[in-house]
Amino acid sequence: ARSLRIGLIPGDGIGREVIPAGKKIIESLPSSLGLSFSFVDLDAGFDCFKRTGAALPDKTVETLKKECDGALFGAVRYAPHLPSNDPSNHHPTNTNPPQSSPSTKVAGYSSPIVAMRKSLSLYANVRPCKTVLSPTFPSPTKTPIDLVIVRENTEDLYVKEEKTYPDPSDPTGKAQIAEAIKRISSKASWRIADIAGQIALRRDKMRKASGAEVSHTKSGMVTITHKSNVLSQTDGLFRSTAREALSQPHFNALKIEEQIVDSMVYKLFLQPEYYDVIVAPNLYGDLLSDGSAALVGSLGLVPSANVGEGIIIGEPCHGSAPDIEGKGIANPIATIRSVGVMLEFMDLPEAAEVIYKAVDANIAEGRLVTPDLGGRATTEEVTNDIIRRM
Ligand code: NAD
Ligand code: MN
Repeated sequence: ARSLRIGLIPGDGIGREVIPAGKKIIESLPSSLGLSFSFVDLDAGFDCFKRTGAALPDKTVETLKKECDGALFGAVRYAPHLPSNDPSNHHPTNTNPPQSSPSTKVAGYSSPIVAMRKSLSLYANVRPCKTVLSPTFPSPTKTPIDLVIVRENTEDLYVKEEKTYPDPSDPTGKAQIAEAIKRISSKASWRIADIAGQIALRRDKMRKASGAEVSHTKSGMVTITHKSNVLSQTDGLFRSTAREALSQPHFNALKIEEQIVDSMVYKLFLQPEYYDVIVAPNLYGDLLSDGSAALVGSLGLVPSANVGEGIIIGEPCHGSAPDIEGKGIANPIATIRSVGVMLEFMDLPEAAEVIYKAVDANIAEGRLVTPDLGGRATTEEVTNDIIRRM
């Protein structure tokens, strides 16, 4: 049997309720798959920061690097409130620059996810968005969608090289200018386009193998998203490199398209079923992936994976959900699907398929679903029902 070691990083809030569900799903995979799993519990997040002074302890990173093939990350809480909710920030005489992120509200705390992506070179964030067919939960879209956003995760504006200086055109010296670097490299653009191509090939294969009716013409399509009509050098480099990567002979079976990001948003709202795989630089990918998650309807359903050279980390898209924390009613499906995405990237598509099918069957029956899907079941009841169907 192939033996795999999985790190478990529940984090804060409902992360601690949904990660155990993910673990149980892995332990319940049919033995016919010939896999054996072991687990290691790892610490990270806001409570960890309060306890230990580190949001992402070195030991967590070292263990992930040295011991783990894959990992599941739950969710983390940032600081208590957003600056926009704080009336003192809107006081007209307040000339301090606004605090940019909620995480700056607690001295020394910064997101362990961003740090983890850096220290483990997780260069791609992959977010599949698929409509659920449910009797209890109407889809926000008329036609079912089944797309995946492949977001570059290491550069673009997120290199965070910003500066602020006095505006030379202002004689009083009070006006300011702020600037940020947008960095695009051919290396990162190539590797993100390459992985998008591999994902498109695999999705096409999985669709056909699962006997799904591949009626739409989009299967095996990659849409390259950019704004090179304005940003001819940065996005221009992303576009030309992605085109080149996707014209490698082993991608011959794919359809490659490109679309300017603003018109992409328009079409994503109007005709989301059109898309299969969307590949984008970091910022556009961030926006498109949250927008796409909205097309599915509940954050409790949407999975993701962080993919790098070594480890694969599955992660539900939702946060720590303080409003339902501790009630035992968090929807475990985003996490359970994240287990599937993690397994796909560990080259175990059959194992992933077992999970996806069981989840679809649970939702299609609609008897044991959590309140976000209009049901009354608990996290544990949903998990057990999915396991029964595996
Ligand atoms: P959230 O995702 O935690 O919750 C938004 C809404 O969706 C809430 O009403 C919540 O109850 C619901 N929801 C989320 N997951 C659910 C699930 N599995 N089942 C049922 N309902 C679910 O976002 P928020 O409220 O904006 O943020 C809460 C905290 O989480 C904040 O501290 C925020 O900074 C953090 N956050 C973390 C991540 C992450 O770790 N990746 C992502 C987003 C937000
Ligand atoms: Mn985001």
